[in-house]
Amino acid sequence: MRLLRINKQILLAFLFILFSGMNSFAQSKQNFTIVIDPGHGGKDSGARGVVEDEKSIVLDVSLRFGKMIEQNYKDVKVVYTRKTDVFLELWERTQIANRNHANLFVSIHCNAANNRSAYGTETFVMGLSRSQETMDVSKRENSVILLEDNQEKYQKFDPNDPEAVIAFDIMFSAYKDQSLNFAKYVEDEFVRNGRSSRGVKQANFHVLRTNASPAVLVELGFISNQDEGSYLATEQGKQKMTQSLFEAFEKFKKEFDRKTRPQEDEKPKEVEKPVAGKTYKIQILVSKNKYGPSATQLNGLTGVEVVQVGDVYKYYYGNTNLASERDELLAYAKRKGFKDAFVAEFVNNEKLQGNQNYRIQFLASNKRYRDRDNKFGGLKNVLRVKKGNMNLYFYGSTKTYEEALKDLKTAQDRGFKSAFIVTFEGEKLIE
Ligand SMILES: [Zn+2]
Repeated sequence: MRLLRINKQILLAFLFILFSGMNSFAQSKQNFTIVIDPGHGGKDSGARGVVEDEKSIVLDVSLRFGKMIEQNYKDVKVVYTRKTDVFLELWERTQIANRNHANLFVSIHCNAANNRSAYGTETFVMGLSRSQETMDVSKRENSVILLEDNQEKYQKFDPNDPEAVIAFDIMFSAYKDQSLNFAKYVEDEFVRNGRSSRGVKQANFHVLRTNASPAVLVELGFISNQDEGSYLATEQGKQKMTQSLFEAFEKFKKEFDRKTRPQEDEKPKEVEKPVAGKTYKIQILVSKNKYGPSATQLNGLTGVEVVQVGDVYKYYYGNTNLASERDELLAYAKRKGFKDAFVAEFVNNEKLQGNQNYRIQFLASNKRYRDRDNKFGGLKNVLRVKKGNMNLYFYGSTKTYEEALKDLKTAQDRGFKSAFIVTFEGEKLIE
């Protein structure tokens, strides 16, 4: 009877943690909290390493991990269970996670084994695994309880008691998939960064069991192993492990954002209005030289328009009437190496003055072709202009830039990919 009553208390406690966790999830639409838990600390050194002990390696990696998140995600709150070498009881760790309504709890540890040849990373999610191997790890990571003063805080969780198992299943199932996903990302990233992975495992850890959030316990490797222990004590080793954790976090966060987006969509979105009568392009380059669409000088930008004005060529990237898109295009062009790029404003349907007109230069040859030559790919009313010993061939004659772009497209569709816009005075090329 007494046993049954305790189990009911456990059930209620689980449900309370579960629902308070869920509530906070619904309330904090855009806020994400990660609780990073460096294992051990203070009088509890954790595993003894060949170079450095567990408590110090995991603190170092945890602080780096949190810092990297803070630098890259303004919408993420990073909470540490400890930031210094202090002793923390296990219940305090999960209490910190639950109090902060964590969206993800990551407990970071290092492994050790009597067999010094054992090595590799592994990530645990809560589960009722009874394999000897995982039992050993959880026994070691849970053993800190024996160092704590207040052992009665830990109600006995008996995997053989059906009621406790039901309570546990309810508790665990809500976060099982998310925990498993994150665990898998972590191990994948470790492998991608050259580590050896022992995979994702399930075990009964106290820090995972009472956590009302997706929770994993990461073992960075065996510090009892000469190679791995030395590696994890180095700057490079710690940085690589941190990078892996961060990349796993990025995937998890992306998924979280995708899932929470429908809530944001409930708000009517403001649709940006186009700027009336104007078109923006990014002028990236002015040159005496004419470059083809795949020339290295264009730094990989595609769809670049070329306009010859007098004896220079102007190169334009992008085409939009949205202010936000214009700014993005400019930023992108600058990132691509065009530091002097600027926004060129075109007034729609603005007509050229007097006799001026736009034409499309699509061919240059020392040969003189007849009107409607097969070489023209079906383009009609082609104008030939002699320049030095070359014959330049032009298609179309329009007053506005918009019309010229249509002619340019026609020429490009007929196979003249390097065609470009040129300004004329009557039938005379402006030079
Ligand atoms: Zn540990």
